[in-house]
Amino acid sequence: MVPVQRKSRSQSKMGRAHKGAKATSSVRCPNCGSAKLPHAACSECGYVRPGLRLNMSKED
Ligand SMILES: [Zn+2]
Repeated sequence: MVPVQRKSRSQSKMGRAHKGAKATSSVRCPNCGSAKLPHAACSECGYVRPGLRLNMSKED
């Protein structure tokens, strides 16, 4: 890096201050109450929204 473009230690850290990973949001499944991603099917019961439910066949 060219010395004239060099940022101070403080400026580098202030730039990085906004780069942190955000916590992923989750909602409670209204059907079974477990945490699920919004707009996604529940991994426990397959519930998506009223009138739509995916068949989750557990293959163990
Ligand atoms: Zn559920």
